[in-house]
Amino acid sequence: MSKTRPADYPRAAAATLRDTPEVRDAVTAATRTFDTHRRESWAQIDADRWRDWCRDVKEHVLTHLDDFLEQAETSLVANGVTVHWAERAEDALGILEHIVDAGRVRRVVKAKSMLTEELGVNAFLEGRGVHVRETDLGEYIIQLLGEPPSHIVGPAIHRSVDDCRRLFHDHFGTPLDATPEALAATARQALREEFLAADMGISGCNFLVAETGTLALIENEGNIRLSTSAPRVHVAFVGIEKLLPGMADLSGFLQITARAATGQPIGNYVSLIRGPRGSAESDGPEEVHVVLVDNGRTTLLADDVAREALRCVRCGACLNICPVYRQTGGHPYGFTYSGPIGAILAPALLGLEEAMPLPFASSLCGACADVCPVRIPIPDILLHWRERAVEAGLTPFVERMGVRAFGAAAGRPSTFSLAGGLLRYVPWALGGRALPVLGGWSAERTPPELSREPFHKHWKEGIE
Ligand code: SF4
Repeated sequence: MSKTRPADYPRAAAATLRDTPEVRDAVTAATRTFDTHRRESWAQIDADRWRDWCRDVKEHVLTHLDDFLEQAETSLVANGVTVHWAERAEDALGILEHIVDAGRVRRVVKAKSMLTEELGVNAFLEGRGVHVRETDLGEYIIQLLGEPPSHIVGPAIHRSVDDCRRLFHDHFGTPLDATPEALAATARQALREEFLAADMGISGCNFLVAETGTLALIENEGNIRLSTSAPRVHVAFVGIEKLLPGMADLSGFLQITARAATGQPIGNYVSLIRGPRGSAESDGPEEVHVVLVDNGRTTLLADDVAREALRCVRCGACLNICPVYRQTGGHPYGFTYSGPIGAILAPALLGLEEAMPLPFASSLCGACADVCPVRIPIPDILLHWRERAVEAGLTPFVERMGVRAFGAAAGRPSTFSLAGGLLRYVPWALGGRALPVLGGWSAERTPPELSREPFHKHWKEGIE
């Protein structure tokens, strides 16, 4: 699959809708199911109070992030973990290379981790001749397909069961009418060999508890537990915003995250990792490394408005409810994080110019904010980035001129009245064709019939 950049979003989204309409069906069906489960699950608890509490805990952490990071490092080191700090992606990859070389690592199993996608870990290792195998079933499928994830939680939701049947038939010779259970069993068998042969397991981390140095990982398949315990070396990449103060906080976040993501009261498996295996233990890695990654996060923290995006727990609920994301899935966004959270993270992590036009890939309906378990005001942050884009001259020239002309006309009643009168003849002049300045909007919609009398005339008559 060719690499897409955010700048390609309009073209890539249009191509997805035109060339692979089945993607919209698959993504819409999957996200509706996720969202229905979230709704049912939240109805079982006082969700609004939980969401307020989660927002407050995360805000507390972000306000004292330096203190919590120091506390976390102290706790991790006391547990026998080696802690590394990475300011940029290349720093994180350099650290990984050093650990790989020191441990003579040739085979790696990976637990699902969006941060490692952000850093480009797989391509980096493969470029150095290291065999890397994703072990989450969805990630395994898209790795075999050569695609990036389409969703934060369900990386392969854009693919149908028939797609998987064909894929497994080509790779493993399974029948083209194999059941989903048979396909899963085939993957399990193949992955079992990978776990046993791996030198290193790489994971992300849902939460890092500062008080105890505990890495918490949520999953449903058991592959994270195997990836982090079977190989002799475990490397966890942790975004610096993933901190929680104490274990009591963790118990609340484990539940709200699972409920928001899939509607489960809690994930099937929750791994709490404190460090390498002890001398009296038979299982677990000999070495545990935690790489604390900034990669643009402290820049985001300094932004008074957009910093709230750092509360994100990567549950995917905003993607599931988003009417824009549902049309295409995540690939056209051209960024690791797609949907509403991707549209507000991209300007901070990539730079605003590189992220354009993702902050505009939203109808601003507000549904994302309604479902976010940590109450991130996503539409406000989208508007914030849009304002910054206008100030930086990053919006299309025609749009800027159009808004400027409207502002000039709206400021003078006589000009406004004249322009309004002339606009009524535009549909007639175009002979029913699309209005060029409205681009995709009028191309896909039948314009409403315009009133023969301008509004201000009706208004004037009404108040006289
Ligand atoms: S922004 Fe909110 S809803 Fe979206 S992934 Fe993050 S925590 Fe979940």
